[in-house]
Amino acid sequence: MPPVRDEALLLRRLPYGDTSLVCHFFTRRGGRIGMMAKGARRPNSSLRGTLQPGNLLEIVYYNKESRDLQLLKEADLQEDFRSADDRYARLLARGGICEILERSQPGEHPDEGLFASARDSLRRAADCPYPVNQIYWFLIFCLARGGYYLDLARCGDCGRELRSFGTRGALLDRRGGQLRCPDCRQRDGGAQGLECSPRLLRVLSFLHRSDPEEVGQREITPATRAELGEALDSLLKAHMEVGRSLRCLEEAAEIE
Ligand SMILES: [Zn+2]
Repeated sequence: MPPVRDEALLLRRLPYGDTSLVCHFFTRRGGRIGMMAKGARRPNSSLRGTLQPGNLLEIVYYNKESRDLQLLKEADLQEDFRSADDRYARLLARGGICEILERSQPGEHPDEGLFASARDSLRRAADCPYPVNQIYWFLIFCLARGGYYLDLARCGDCGRELRSFGTRGALLDRRGGQLRCPDCRQRDGGAQGLECSPRLLRVLSFLHRSDPEEVGQREITPATRAELGEALDSLLKAHMEVGRSLRCLEEAAEIE
């Protein structure tokens, strides 16, 4: 079988045996794929420096459907999304985008649009003033692409506009992943869920309608980032089988 050539983002790598690596990629045409990189940790291996998480690579691999791990043959660096000012917030954004892809994407489900958006967001994270915002933007993009994003304008029960309730916040139903207006939540006897302030709804809506460039220019305070993280984590858990919380959401809330 001829080898496959594709573009790939390296999401995570794990040592295997004495000299090899298991690499988890998100590829442009094949989706998320695990591959064995034999001998990649040998001192003279050409793959040694290239296989760093967050790198965009051109790879060549052998694909056999019956196998869990495919076999990586070559990898050339295309882009490493680093910048002269590679501060912690940038590293966190880069790692966060990889974590989101790794945890939210099922295996071998190609999505070229998602691939292109991840690349755009990584590029912006390397040069914008507020890189961690890319984590929120990209997670919202992933949720919306899966058809899971919230309707921020209306109550999921009665359909009334949330704006008409002024400063009274909405409630995010943790299981259903929808917003309830103050009246509907009261009718349910206060119902379980996550408090969403009008300010949080405004920031969510800004992130949803903007592109990575705009998103990187606007400061979001640590307090709002903490709220955002909690709301997005609830949505993610309501809709996708992600298990534990995303680490990048907790860490992004703590950046000064
Ligand atoms: Zn309602």
